[in-house]
Amino acid sequence: MHYSKKRPLEDVLQEQTAIWSCPNENCKGWMRDNFTFSSTPICSQCQAKMVKGERMLAAVLNTSPIHSK
Ligand SMILES: [Zn+2]
Repeated sequence: MHYSKKRPLEDVLQEQTAIWSCPNENCKGWMRDNFTFSSTPICSQCQAKMVKGERMLAAVLNTSPIHSK
């Protein structure tokens, strides 16, 4: 493992991410918009139609050199 931490801000980069959340108050179900395949996803926990929203989430980056061998 050999990488420097010169830019700590990039370690926990967060971005406003489009998500779908469950309208049911008793349910915490939600998913990232880019993980859905239908225009109106169904909650996997209570089968309610989900509503679109936004949430601050850690950015998903697939360019990390840590995972390359
Ligand atoms: Zn739900």
